[in-house]
Amino acid sequence: MNWEEMTPEQKDALVAEKVMEWRPTLCEATEKDIFYAAESAEKVRIHCSKCGYQDREGIIYRGKIYWVHSVPQPRYTQGMDAAWLVVEKMSEIPTKPWIGELPPNTWFMHYFEKASLWACSAEEAAEEICKAALQALGVDVK
Ligand SMILES: [Zn+2]
Repeated sequence: MNWEEMTPEQKDALVAEKVMEWRPTLCEATEKDIFYAAESAEKVRIHCSKCGYQDREGIIYRGKIYWVHSVPQPRYTQGMDAAWLVVEKMSEIPTKPWIGELPPNTWFMHYFEKASLWACSAEEAAEEICKAALQALGVDVK
């Protein structure tokens, strides 16, 4: 896969699948976590402070706003908050067998050091962390 030709969404989806084993889950927000802004009688903008979910067209039915939602997939390559979840995941001691001599967490440290994060902007660092994790797991990203 040519990393440079992928969209941010494709990169985030690849990291979600290959590194994080991410699955959609229902947000456990309660009503106090939800902010509404009515845009018209039918349209309402919903923002969840717990998971960051945003919806321009929340559902209003018989005057009641429905806000049950799935937690959005984190944007791993777009910011250090989400990228650090990748670091934490890749720092775990492996619980599954791996292919090759060294475990993925050891390879991750190797690629992490090679990425020279001190020379990166925050956005570049998030991308480099994600690339290091994918490479450590044997995903061919250039
Ligand atoms: Zn939420």
